[in-house]
Amino acid sequence: MATSQLKTSSVVENRTSKVAGREGFKPAHRSTSTACSVGAVGPYPRMDFVHLGLRRNRGWPWPEDSWGLDSMFGETGWCHSCGTPLQEQSGSLTLQAGGQSPVHGAWIPNWRFDAICLEKSIADRVSAEFRLDLRPVAWRRKVIGAAMQIVTPTVGPAWFDPDQLRDAAIARHGSAGAECSECHTWRWLPLAFEQLPPVRSDASWERCDILASPEWFGDGARSFREILVRRGLAELIAAASPKDFKIREIS
Ligand SMILES: [Zn+2]
Repeated sequence: MATSQLKTSSVVENRTSKVAGREGFKPAHRSTSTACSVGAVGPYPRMDFVHLGLRRNRGWPWPEDSWGLDSMFGETGWCHSCGTPLQEQSGSLTLQAGGQSPVHGAWIPNWRFDAICLEKSIADRVSAEFRLDLRPVAWRRKVIGAAMQIVTPTVGPAWFDPDQLRDAAIARHGSAGAECSECHTWRWLPLAFEQLPPVRSDASWERCDILASPEWFGDGARSFREILVRRGLAELIAAASPKDFKIREIS
């Protein structure tokens, strides 16, 4: 198991790395999120974070031809070749009312796998206790309830040893991943959470209650980051919607 990197920079690196083969990680140009608090950094217990395993998706983002990305990032804010956002979220996740049961609990919509949505009353409760960047969910045509989306900051440095990640991806797919010819983002081929190498934490994690990996994963137009959630927050979310989430320990 990789050891926690507690002596590294205290700067929260909200930026995404682009990785090419064995060249290592390169910082990309992403703006800084404000979701993490600024304060003293102490020793960080890595196991205070857990993975929220997904049992199902609920709801369909709009516009469908951009998998909801136009609404969240603007037409020019995401790569139209690989579907990777190229800047911080600037607009609302917009969900289509059709097929969506009344808003309740917590859930993740289809296509946007790092967009945790919360019924407004639950959002109010968790935002009083945890440091979250919340944005109202918009509705296409018909408003069916008040909901908020957690905007998850990318927090580096690299979560995974690139050699281990490469080996795991090749073992699963026969290939590690690919660099997008348009935006040059390196994406690892998707792996189930239990197939990923051990997560390497950083002192900067202490400033966040939810965080996304600098590594991008995906294939085709599907592009996503890994998400980890502080245990107390994850327990509230999973308790609100046990049919949507299950808590998994990280290695
Ligand atoms: Zn791209």
